[in-house]
Amino acid sequence: MARDTRIVIVGGGYVGMYTALRLQRKLAANEASVTVIDPQANMTYQPFLPEAAAGSIEPRHVVVPLRKVLRKCHVLTGRVTGISRERREVTVEAAAGHVSQIGYDVLVVAPGSVARTLPIPGLAEQGIAFKNVAEAIYLRNHVLSHMDEAASTINPELRRKLLTFLVVGGGYAGVEALAELADMSRYASRYYENIDETDLRWVLVEASGRIMPEVSPPMGKYTVKQLLKARIEVYLDTRVKSMTGGHVVLDDGTEFDTDTIVWTAGVKPNPMLAETDLPLDDKGRVICSASLQVDGSPEIFSAGDCASVPDLTKDDPDAKTSPSAQHAVRQAAQLADNVIAHLRSKPVTPYKHKHVGSVASLGLYKGAAEVYGIKLKGPLAWFMHRTYHLSRMPTFNRKFRIVSDWTQALLFRREVVSLEQIHEPKKEFSRVIGPTPRLDPPVDKKQA
Ligand SMILES: Cc1cc2nc3c(=O)[nH]c(=O)nc-3n(C[C@H](O)[C@H](O)[C@H](O)COP(=O)(O)OP(=O)(O)OC[C@H]3O[C@@H](n4cnc5c(N)ncnc54)[C@H](O)[C@@H]3O)c2cc1C
Repeated sequence: MARDTRIVIVGGGYVGMYTALRLQRKLAANEASVTVIDPQANMTYQPFLPEAAAGSIEPRHVVVPLRKVLRKCHVLTGRVTGISRERREVTVEAAAGHVSQIGYDVLVVAPGSVARTLPIPGLAEQGIAFKNVAEAIYLRNHVLSHMDEAASTINPELRRKLLTFLVVGGGYAGVEALAELADMSRYASRYYENIDETDLRWVLVEASGRIMPEVSPPMGKYTVKQLLKARIEVYLDTRVKSMTGGHVVLDDGTEFDTDTIVWTAGVKPNPMLAETDLPLDDKGRVICSASLQVDGSPEIFSAGDCASVPDLTKDDPDAKTSPSAQHAVRQAAQLADNVIAHLRSKPVTPYKHKHVGSVASLGLYKGAAEVYGIKLKGPLAWFMHRTYHLSRMPTFNRKFRIVSDWTQALLFRREVVSLEQIHEPKKEFSRVIGPTPRLDPPVDKKQA
């Protein structure tokens, strides 16, 4: 194989970045070039987003700059808008705006997932997802600035609305985001003369009868108990009917007003996949074999949240691996090895990994974990959550920065600064300048 053999990776998240890291380490010099395409210049370590939102970790430290770690790869900042396996090319809309086609010999499809939404009135206007670092930073600033506003208003209804926060969806993303943000807001309340921690109302609504499906039912129940203990209202078997103008109506008849609705009710495969000629299943996932190769195209690989991968550890032949970081990281390693085997005309290996369980943080010193069937609760689970994710965090640089963030938070307590201005950086300057002066039309000298 010559260097002009081109490996193109769509998406620089868990699967994309870990695949590229392994390829750059294992490919022989001049064996192939690797190009990673992603609209973001960084990979986001999503399990740390709740801690970034709560101020225990500096948000910059939960992302990994792709160009810094993928020194032997080409990194292209742009969005893939189409894939043609017939022409062996991907269509890319570059960050600068122009559209081009890039050919490939081997393609890795890893654009992940997006929030799964429902046609609920008001969701588009009122809701915010919790999948990237911008949303985590925004929510942190939003919660703290709402506390500032609530402390200054004389309108009791507005105050109640500002201090009510709703999270919809009880998977680990929703539960961790809720628990960490609630913990942070209660801690921050001690610095307000007229906000008591009991004034803050945090609500979780989950359509099914349990939360945290990633752990066993008893651990799910334990998590509910912990949330209730932290004065978080939990509605199970309940759906949101509407949220127009921030007026929330649940299907059990409960109604309340809130200005904060975090939508974490599951994910669906990236909709960009519909703009490709790849085989998709009924959920919109790329259909792969256990070797992570796309049906009918051995030169195309896929894995992670966007892929339908057989779960060989289950007796059910139709079982697929769940969308989780745990599978994404391990699939990436197998995928990279199989890409190299494919290039060298060697046999590929099927992916097989038994889900070992989950660890979740429920706020400072609180957690729930179930690993290899062993249940851990409270501070031990919280410690396990931190050490596990720290060990998985890519690069020594990021690990070191996160440990130093935790150490600083331990010594100086949580940071409760709201940087609300970053969401409207030009507002103050525009206010200083005032309205743009109207230019008088030029005077026609002949007529004058
Ligand atoms: C808050 C939160 C907490 C979580 N906690 C856990 C946990 O504790 N344990 C666990 O196992 N899992 C957890 N997960 C799930 C886990 O993060 C995902 O399963 C994992 O990120 C999937 O990896 P992926 O590579 O498929 O997708 P991603 O990591 O999302 O990567 C997809 C990449 O594709 C890029 N992309 C999107 N569209 C395009 C396009 N058109 N062209 C090019 N690139 C594109 C994106 O920018 C992104 O970089 C959590 C998720 C969230 C949101």
